[in-house]
Amino acid sequence: MPRKKLIAANWKMYKTPDQTHDFFRHFLPLVTNHHRDEIVVCTPCLDLHAAIESAKGSNVAVGAQNVHWANEGAYTGEISAPMLLALGCTHVIIGHSERRQYFGETDDTVNLRLKAALEAGLTPIVCVGEVLQEREAGLTEDVLRRQCDRAFHKISTKKAAKLVIAYEPVWAIGTGKTATPQMAADAHRLIRGEAATTFGEDFANQLRILYGGSVKPENAKALMSEEEIDGALVGGASLDPKSFAAIVHY
Ligand code: PEP
Repeated sequence: MPRKKLIAANWKMYKTPDQTHDFFRHFLPLVTNHHRDEIVVCTPCLDLHAAIESAKGSNVAVGAQNVHWANEGAYTGEISAPMLLALGCTHVIIGHSERRQYFGETDDTVNLRLKAALEAGLTPIVCVGEVLQEREAGLTEDVLRRQCDRAFHKISTKKAAKLVIAYEPVWAIGTGKTATPQMAADAHRLIRGEAATTFGEDFANQLRILYGGSVKPENAKALMSEEEIDGALVGGASLDPKSFAAIVHY
């Protein structure tokens, strides 16, 4: 069965609830009846309610950008997977490079968050990717292997069913530099191989691996034409309804 592509927006720390309503008012008519791909918009937590209200009954799902690993507890400022689920979220980004870089995210906390998201029934989008120095030092494969193996630690194939991976070379995020479709495809093959080792060949064949890093309307078609690329995680270009819709229609 061919893998249905997933086109995901990562708004990072942009937009208020009013701006969220505004986005959906303009975006939804541009993607009505688009069922070739799955579409999800991951907003700041504060905007989730507005996004879920706006997207109700549409073909657009709503996701968060992080999740804590406990169901509840004394964790000031944190939000749990059951809370996201109760609100109507279906997806969550985990281990984005900005969280790894600025907020102390580690491979081990990615694993904890991933387990919590899967347990709750959310679709986790786990981000992996090398920084520029690692690529230049020829360490890309080692980094991707380590990030995948630690993220997948002690998760059963059955539990992992909803897993989605996003390969995001850190040097391509928000920089305007894009990995060539070939570079991305090579990284995706390696990630799929790691998933096969942990979860088995059948699982790996169904696993969706998105590409992220300066995806724009102009380069989306070339990237999405690669058989290994099962969708996109889009930052900057997802903030504008027209440009995100153009990516959805690659
Ligand atoms: C991202 O935030 O995951 C991302 C890929 O950002 P951008 O598309 O702006 O490079």
